[in-house]
Amino acid sequence: MGRKYYCDYCDKRIQNDYNIIKQHNVGLPHLRAKAEYFQQFKSIEEILGEIKYKPPCRSLKDHSVCMFGVLCRYRHYTSEQIREMQQFVQRPKEFNPKRSERLRKYLRNVLARTELFVKKRYNQHAMEKLPPSMIQIEDSSK
Ligand SMILES: [Zn+2]
Ligand SMILES: [Zn+2]
Repeated sequence: MGRKYYCDYCDKRIQNDYNIIKQHNVGLPHLRAKAEYFQQFKSIEEILGEIKYKPPCRSLKDHSVCMFGVLCRYRHYTSEQIREMQQFVQRPKEFNPKRSERLRKYLRNVLARTELFVKKRYNQHAMEKLPPSMIQIEDSSK
């Protein structure tokens, strides 16, 4: 009955029922979407700090898509990406802010492009392994 509940993070409409919403809010797809939303506001330094002691995720090795996304307790960045981020962080401090901001954006784009590439390339493969509910999430994340 009535209007559906809309989840901003998941960009998804669900039945406006207390228990269903409650269940949705503790589900992995929702937690992941929420974490990914906040991930985009983090600085390179913060991201580096978070992944510092994380061993690489298996998905990096077998080129699968990890269903835990940013919630994964392992890191999803390659050593090369980490090196790139470290170089950026350790840049000379006399950088002018505008240029530094451009670099930051550029680096962000590089990371986004890499992830997109990996996603596109291995999506088909990963989809076959995902349960139907996750396939929907992958589709609506575009
Ligand atoms: Zn949600
Ligand atoms: Zn992972």
